[in-house]
Amino acid sequence: MTTSETDRVTAAVRRLRRAGLRNTAARRGVLDQLAHAVGGRGHLTVTELHHALLVRGVAVELSTVHRVLRQLVELGIAHTVPVGRTTTFGLADDAHHHAVCGTCGDMRQLPAETVEASLAAARAVGIDPDPPGQPSGVVVYGRCAGCRTAPR
Ligand SMILES: [Zn+2]
Ligand SMILES: [Zn+2]
Repeated sequence: MTTSETDRVTAAVRRLRRAGLRNTAARRGVLDQLAHAVGGRGHLTVTELHHALLVRGVAVELSTVHRVLRQLVELGIAHTVPVGRTTTFGLADDAHHHAVCGTCGDMRQLPAETVEASLAAARAVGIDPDPPGQPSGVVVYGRCAGCRTAPR
């Protein structure tokens, strides 16, 4: 964990406490993994999170991971982006949007300011582009470099 990962987890735990939720091993573990993912793809699936927790020795049921994620999304600590048939989860503390490879599911985070004009245009026609608890903001679907060059 880098310092900024630790800071993000600490801030998220503070928000959990304010909402009356204890800092359980499962919640803490999920937050640790989500914060760590920010430096890479940014988002993880429930299966990936569950696997990562088990590898770290945090013995939790898959259903617990689902429940923790639902709580984090309800509190606005995490948000979701659909990729193919699965849902990915990422920390929502830093405003960002997403570019997703529709073929392999690879994902990159886009800085909020790069899509601000699109969001303003949506608001202007009466659509809230970032309602709490919903798949967040703008998702650009395309194909990554690896998938473009891969032989068919
Ligand atoms: Zn995200
Ligand atoms: Zn790809």
